[in-house]
Amino acid sequence: MIIAVDGPSASGKGSVSRRIAAQLGLPYLDTGLLYRAVARDMLDQGLPLDDEDAAVRAAKSLDLDGLDDPRLRERRMGEAASRVAASPAVREALLELQRDFAHRPGGAVLDGRDIGTVVCPGADVKLYITASAEERAHRRYLELRDRGEHVDEDEIYQDILKRDHRDQERSAAPLRKADDAHLLDTTNLDIEQAFKAALGLINA
Ligand code: C5P
Repeated sequence: MIIAVDGPSASGKGSVSRRIAAQLGLPYLDTGLLYRAVARDMLDQGLPLDDEDAAVRAAKSLDLDGLDDPRLRERRMGEAASRVAASPAVREALLELQRDFAHRPGGAVLDGRDIGTVVCPGADVKLYITASAEERAHRRYLELRDRGEHVDEDEIYQDILKRDHRDQERSAAPLRKADDAHLLDTTNLDIEQAFKAALGLINA
């Protein structure tokens, strides 16, 4: 069973996907980490983020074992990831890795921006998880603060708006709900409620 979960930044899709995967005994891939890892490799080598050839090379040499680096979760990596993710060639270079993961025996849960639309259009279940920009900014603020980053909530709100705009307006695989995805708005739900609502949609 392949479960595709998409939605904007800090919508709760990561927490929900992780719990769904644990509940169903499926492997889970947070595909945002792939774009973050490409961005990290570029920054580490001092390369400009718009050097597309270098970004494609970094994408092709990624391996899933390096995705537990805590630096990938930093605010600047999210911002840099959304810039490398605008390149169609980088997206193409990451496609096979994601599809191989999805087609593991037994299935998998993948979350991102284009899982239901591009990576796994034939997924068994598709969820599109969203929440208001204010609520998402508040969650991201708490998450970064708890990790010890010095952040200002209004700056995080501006980051979220900028990232939404970039993800929705890019020409390659823009963020949008697949026609056959279930919509789940988590603005007024805590993690437990969002998880239960998602499980209900999967089992429906
Ligand atoms: O989900 P996360 O915030 O980690 O993603 C970082 C950035 O990577 C997003 O803003 C988006 O631009 C990009 N991304 C993407 N496609 C995916 C996952 C992430 O374009 N499937």
